[in-house]
This record gives sequence, structure tokens and C-alpha cells, in this order.
Amino acid sequence: MTNPTPTDDELKSAAQILRQTHPSLGISKLFAQLKTDHPEWVVSEKRFKKFVTPSTTTTSTSTDGNGSGADGDKGGDDGLIAKTGLDPSLDIGSIAPKIKVKMFNVQGKGKGLVAKEKLQVGELVWQEEPWIATNDSDLTPYLSSREMCSQCLTLFPQPNPPLSVPCKHCAESHFCNRRCYSKATEQGTHNDYLCPGQNRECKALLSFINQKKARDIQGVARIIALWRRYRDLGDEKRAGEVEKRVWGSMARISQRTKEGERREWPYIAESRLEEWRLTHLLILRALNPSNDEDPESYKSFHRFLSTKKKNIPPLSKEEEERWFSFDSFLELLGLIGLNQESSGGLYALHCHLNHCCEPNLQVRNLPKTWSPPTSLPADLPPPMTAASRGTNKLSIIVKKTIHPGDELTISYVDQRLSREERRVKLREQYGFWCGCNRCVREGKED
Ligand SMILES: [Zn+2]
Ligand SMILES: [Zn+2]
Ligand SMILES: [Zn+2]
Repeated sequence: MTNPTPTDDELKSAAQILRQTHPSLGISKLFAQLKTDHPEWVVSEKRFKKFVTPSTTTTSTSTDGNGSGADGDKGGDDGLIAKTGLDPSLDIGSIAPKIKVKMFNVQGKGKGLVAKEKLQVGELVWQEEPWIATNDSDLTPYLSSREMCSQCLTLFPQPNPPLSVPCKHCAESHFCNRRCYSKATEQGTHNDYLCPGQNRECKALLSFINQKKARDIQGVARIIALWRRYRDLGDEKRAGEVEKRVWGSMARISQRTKEGERREWPYIAESRLEEWRLTHLLILRALNPSNDEDPESYKSFHRFLSTKKKNIPPLSKEEEERWFSFDSFLELLGLIGLNQESSGGLYALHCHLNHCCEPNLQVRNLPKTWSPPTSLPADLPPPMTAASRGTNKLSIIVKKTIHPGDELTISYVDQRLSREERRVKLREQYGFWCGCNRCVREGKED
């Protein structure tokens, strides 16, 4: 095993070679090249900078393209390190007794999961329902034609179920049974704040989400609604748990910082910021309208609140700032991007899993009728189509034997992509250059 942190000498000579071969490249691009040449190295752009001589061209062509918003806030690699921490409300021992959380002392890596004992191929390590359910826009037609449960995303048996349970207040949501209905109310999926039959002010937001296929906004709205409902009803314990999970545990980064890394950012900055501002306003109107700016919505929202509980205390300055500021909105959006599992939303334990291009776990959505045997075939068929799909409950299954102390990994990207494609995608969507064994090996083959 080579040490993943290069010595000053190693870094210096790599920097010199890079500078000789690319005399006019800016430091960020040179750094990207370094990460491609040495995927196994753990090194920050800041440290790399110390060893690089400036480019030979004096005028910069890539920045200042557009004044508004593109303020040159390109934090390099340091800027893309997500904030993350432990989640005290998660009882891992009861969900998955054979694994534990580990904080890695590697820059930018954060937490992960490791095995406490040997895990055999095909073994079911744990199953988990989403903490915040979100649905892919492909499923919207099924949901709006009342063919699918809004909470667990199971298709109702055909022909149309006489027994599905509709929301009592609106025509938007249907559920398998009372259990799914009460989960949806309890969690953010369809709680009072996001039920148009109860809170009229959420209508514009919900139709925006459907029209724009804005699943990430759906996630943000559901997180805030989940917190706000507990908070307003006076359930301090659960409001506190949501708060800790969101702002203290799940990996998070401002969407603006993340997109600021994109090469085309200077050209799209203005329109992206405008889009985010508009969406942010829709969220405010639905979940915290201001009396000064939007008195009509304010009145209507507070009428709705008064049906829930008498004398709900107004949000404190800190609460306003933490949950409803524009910066917080961008952080929540970034959190969704880093943690959302495409088949179901945000999962409290699954979101601890780190990426590897040859993972030792696979994640499946099995049908509701499936009951766990002790083991499953190592390679189940790929995720089902909507017509034969499972629920949003995840089953985490061992793909390759895992020994005690090994880290458990999944793949965030399609494993059939080439090394270059995978690495670019991971960098753009998750903010890191993959340095897994497969990337190192395939890098040497080239
Ligand atoms: Zn259901
Ligand atoms: Zn409803
Ligand atoms: Zn990799």
C-alpha cells in the first residue's frame, strides 16, 4: 500500500512536470489534471498551489465572464468538502447489528460504514424505509392517476383498488392503507403543511414541483415541512432530531458552491440564481409567508396554523435564519443532491455509505410482497420498471464478501461508464475525484 498523501517532494515534481506539459493552464485545471494522473493521492488544491508556478499567459479567460453572482467564488477543491457529522438519533445497532459508523481521518471523506463481522455474499445487511420520501418525476403520472401509493410508491393492484385510502382533505394523495397514510402525515411526504386541502398556500409550490419535475425541491419542502410541523405542535424532541440530522449530520454543501465549479457557471449564474430565488419564494409562501411582503398568504397560512394548535409561538430569528434564509435553501438543495437515492429519497443510514467504483454492496427495491430470507442471489436483476417495481424500501445486499473492518460501499454512478466518465460525474455531482482501487488500476492501464 502506498501512502495516499504525497510528500512535498513528490507533489513538487508532479507539479513541475504538469507545468511543463501545460504551460498555459490555470491552477484549477492543472489541479484537475493532477487528480486524473494521481487518483490515489489525497491532496487539496490549496496545498498543490504552493508548488505550482503561475501560468505563462497573463490574462485569465475563464473568470469574470459575467458580473452577477459569478463572483469568482471558486473555492477549488477545498470548497467542495461537504460538512458532515454523526447522527445521534440513529440507532444503528437495531437496524444493522453487524455494522458500525466510522469517521475517516481523510480530508473530505467524512463518515462511512464498516463491518463489525464477516458478511457473506448475498446476505441482507439491512432494510430501510426513507426518512424523507421523494419520487422520480417518471412516477408522477401514476401518482396523479391514483394508481400508486404516495408514501411507499407501490402500485396498487389492478384494476383500481377499491380499498386504497385517499387523503381526507385533498384529491392529491392516495395510500395503500391507513398505515401508509399515517406515515405520510407523520413524515414530510404529505403532512398538513404540504396538503393543499389544508394549507392552500402550498398549491403553487406543488404544481411548480410537478411541472418542473423538481424532485430536489420536493425534498427540500418535505424536510422543512417535517421540521416545522413538529416544531409548531410543540414536539421539541423530534423537531430537535430533524434539526440535528439536517444541520449536523447529513453531508451538505451549498448548491451554489457546487454549481460554481461547473465550467459554464459564469454563463448560467444569472439564470440559475433567478430560478433559485423564485423557488425559494414559493417555499416561503407555502411554509413561512411574510406579513410585510405577502400579507394575503400570511393571513391564509396563519388561519391554517390556528386550526392545528392554539397560540403557536412565532419563529425566532434563529429559526427563520436556519430554515428559511436563501443560503439555507441552497444548503438544503445541496444536501438533497449529495444524499438522495434515486429510487426513493433520503435514507438515514443508507446516506452514510461512501462510493466505490467496484462496490461490495448492492441496493435494491424489492416488491412489498417479498419477505427477507437470510440470503439473496448476489446479482439480482436491475431495478424494475414502474410497472413491476418494488417499494421505496431499500434492501442492502452483500455483493462481495466483506471482512471485519472493511468499509461498506455502493456505487453512486453507473458502473459501466468509463473511468473518465465516472470520475467527471462524481466530481460534478458529489464533489470528489474518485481514487478507488478500480480507478487507480484502470488509470495505470491507460
Ligand atoms: Zn403504501
Ligand atoms: Zn391531502
Ligand atoms: Zn473509482
